[in-house]
Amino acid sequence: MVIVMKPRASEEAIMEMKNRLQNSGCKVHLSKGETHCVLGLVGDTSHIDISRIEANEHVDKVLRVQSPFKLASRAFHPDDTVIQVNGVKIGGEKKVVIAGPCAVESEEQLLQIAHSVKESGASLLRGGAFKPRTSPYSFQGLGEEGLKLLRKAKEQTHLPIVTEAMCIETFDLVDQYADIIQIGARNMQNFSLLKKAGKTNKPILLKRGLSATIEELLMAAEYIMSEGNPNVILCERGIRTFEKYTRNTLDLSAIPVIKELSHLPVIVDPSHATGKWSMVEPLSKAAIVAGADGLIIEVHHQPEVALSDGAQSLKPEKFAKLMQDLNGLMKYI
Ligand code: PEP
Ligand code: MN
Repeated sequence: MVIVMKPRASEEAIMEMKNRLQNSGCKVHLSKGETHCVLGLVGDTSHIDISRIEANEHVDKVLRVQSPFKLASRAFHPDDTVIQVNGVKIGGEKKVVIAGPCAVESEEQLLQIAHSVKESGASLLRGGAFKPRTSPYSFQGLGEEGLKLLRKAKEQTHLPIVTEAMCIETFDLVDQYADIIQIGARNMQNFSLLKKAGKTNKPILLKRGLSATIEELLMAAEYIMSEGNPNVILCERGIRTFEKYTRNTLDLSAIPVIKELSHLPVIVDPSHATGKWSMVEPLSKAAIVAGADGLIIEVHHQPEVALSDGAQSLKPEKFAKLMQDLNGLMKYI
């Protein structure tokens, strides 16, 4: 961190700032130019609150050199993190595909989709029992009944379950059934929920907020990790931009950026990113080529009557074809 003092800052103000920083555990290098005096901080500055330094009337500006996240940072943990769930590795050599319906709707619906995605080569089953819907009048999910159906699907297919925990009140219930707990885009900065997620030993699939920067996503992961849960999978699911043609805009550049900044696995959700089933195939391929560790894809056997996100759901045959294409693609990357 570099602190540039105002041109007319007094010797006393500069020394007071230097002492304050040293007392917080940093080494401080002072360099005096013709007009400006600059304080360079060495050591871990992640605990320093920039806004409190900026509040000092003698400070001109503060520049952060080090990232504000630590546990999620590649500098802190140079090797890629590989997360294991019931024998499935996420973040390793092999790309992982999580597939299933947006929401669990009925036993017949879930089991049919679960068996078909398993047959096509998916490694995990997704399905929401608690759904974050924009309208309170839309289908909200089956709740615990949905979780029980997910358990049944797992017993039959042996696919581990990924399902969303929407709030602290139902978190422990979801924890009893899920193999990976999803924190949805709308909850990415629900800090009390993130802290709760940090106290379980289940991996967390953390989705990027609708208008969150990559740094904010990594800070959200830091919340979970700093509470003791190191198993966080990041998910790029599209962000809000001025473009209206697609539901969101898939930020493909987030993949290499996250890989540079962090050791955590990163997967891509082309379904929510585009809102259109016809775009899921090209963007799944693009995400894998860009270095994603895997994909989370919505699949429905009857998208026309789906209770949520039918327009972006692949039919099982289309999903099977995509899996074949992806297998072919893996030979080249
Ligand atoms: C979902 O996965 O069904 C979902 C609601 O995703 P997101 O939080 O990314 O909108
Ligand atoms: Mn959905």
